[in-house]
Amino acid sequence: MKLRCVSLVFVLASTGVAQPVAHDSWETFFEASGGLRTPRYDSTVAYCRRLAAFSPWVHFTSFGQSAQGRALPLMIVSSERSFTPASARQAGKAVVLIQAGIHAGEIDGKDAGLMLIRDIVVRKRYPHLLDSLVLLFVPMFNVDGHERFGPYNRINQNGPKEMGWRTTAQNLNLNRDYMKADTPEMRALLRLFNTWLPDLYIDCHVTDGIDFQYDVTYTMELGRNIDAAVSGWSRDVFLPSVLSAVEASGHKVFWYVMPREDVDLSKGLQGGGVSTPRFSTGYAALQNRPALLIETHMLKPYRTRVDATYHFLKGSLQAVRTSLSRLKDAVHAADRRLEGADPSVRVVPLRFKAGTGFHMRHFLGITQRVEQSALSGGAHIIYTGEPFEQEVPFYDESIVEDSVRMPEAYIVPPELTYIPELLRAHGIQFKQLPVPDSLDVESYRFTEVRFAERPYEGRQTVTYTTLPVRERRLYPAGSLFIPTRQRSANVLVHLLEPRSPDSFAAWGFMNGIFEQKEYAEGYVMEKVGAELLAQQPALRQAFEERVRTDSSFAHTPAARLNWLYQHSPWGDPAVGVYPVGRLHSNE
Ligand SMILES: [Zn+2]
Repeated sequence: MKLRCVSLVFVLASTGVAQPVAHDSWETFFEASGGLRTPRYDSTVAYCRRLAAFSPWVHFTSFGQSAQGRALPLMIVSSERSFTPASARQAGKAVVLIQAGIHAGEIDGKDAGLMLIRDIVVRKRYPHLLDSLVLLFVPMFNVDGHERFGPYNRINQNGPKEMGWRTTAQNLNLNRDYMKADTPEMRALLRLFNTWLPDLYIDCHVTDGIDFQYDVTYTMELGRNIDAAVSGWSRDVFLPSVLSAVEASGHKVFWYVMPREDVDLSKGLQGGGVSTPRFSTGYAALQNRPALLIETHMLKPYRTRVDATYHFLKGSLQAVRTSLSRLKDAVHAADRRLEGADPSVRVVPLRFKAGTGFHMRHFLGITQRVEQSALSGGAHIIYTGEPFEQEVPFYDESIVEDSVRMPEAYIVPPELTYIPELLRAHGIQFKQLPVPDSLDVESYRFTEVRFAERPYEGRQTVTYTTLPVRERRLYPAGSLFIPTRQRSANVLVHLLEPRSPDSFAAWGFMNGIFEQKEYAEGYVMEKVGAELLAQQPALRQAFEERVRTDSSFAHTPAARLNWLYQHSPWGDPAVGVYPVGRLHSNE
């Protein structure tokens, strides 16, 4: 790092004589730029190291490596030097994980976090914030994206002058990767998360979307995807405290919303709802932890956004400080419920949909008018800059669309070789069968299988309908036996129940099971098929009915012969069958 010149300004001292005063040498790069710029990776790391060298309260380390080989920086801040999960637990502290730059172009959290930590450990403005907690700070999560640096990365966003890129070097979006964990960055983050088990997780972003007066918006999971005691702390204790702190700092703040109809706000705003666990807040919910999503407003100047984030983070630490025991009790009780026999947690919601329930909320908007666009040929929204206030319908109801009863355990055959490492990253405990075992299992057969036409996050996703099956299966030695009475059981269920939108099956990890690999030659099947139908009246009846009722089948000779092949002793019974079994204790 190059040392910057110390700038001198003149102030009027109490004697009435102008005196030159050196600017505080702890000024951050962002502050020195007048709030216009954000530092590069090396400069950010150098500032973190400087804080760690100066303050015994700061430990600087790395929690993994990016795809391009950059270290993933981590600051651990503790006034009692509790720099390990064990020492933090022993000291009875809450652990708060603040993460910036999962979308590296939305980097407000990095500059806000560096200033806040500086103000705690160097300037000692709020040393009391560390009384009750250990702070983990990830200044740049998507480090490779952060170094794809330039002025043209965020067309919607008002500064900084140059910034990083949304996705990783592998062009994957980390905020879709929490469950499938395809990236080295996410695997490292999951290990960090599950080693420290933060009592509060904060993920800093910048919005896209509509214009409004608010500098900053936020969301937390308050639906049926999270333990009620944990969401109760978020809703009744944390949010009232932190929102009043943000407002007291002079920033307007509102729930993170989208308009239900782009051009007509009177149709209402969509807020709340439930995040699937591919997202940070939805993932933390399955781990029984509250998570705060901060979304500063893209059209506000960078300096304003960083300041709003600073006060949100500071208010969050203060709110944890004043409700430490209630927070810790809530997350521990949620963990214990899953580890024990509590029947209330054995049915897991898998999918939600937005309900039609709403209530009216006061909204500080920006007036818009709609014109016909010569460019697009469609409607064009023009924001006039004029503020307005209005009661707006606010839709935040979410309805459970599908759920599943937890089995006592899952059994996973060893050929699904990617699963053990991912379970470990998610903090899920399992054993391996020392010898083969024949087990009565529940499982699924897939029908109406449809593959996505385009890749999504580098994967060919798949949709299907599941039909339940019960059968005895031989699971080889090395198969994973995964009990569900453990604190991460909700993550386990969402990974292994195929109807979860973030299951391995839905993400396309298992597409091999849908492929038929042996086929009969037509002239072979003609002879075998005729014999089969002659010998098996029930099969003949089923075949004839299919021909009668399915005209596409009836007019596709190869499909008719393949149907007969699949119903012959040569057919492959494993095609379209889910290899994972559900085990119940009475079996
Ligand atoms: Zn974002």
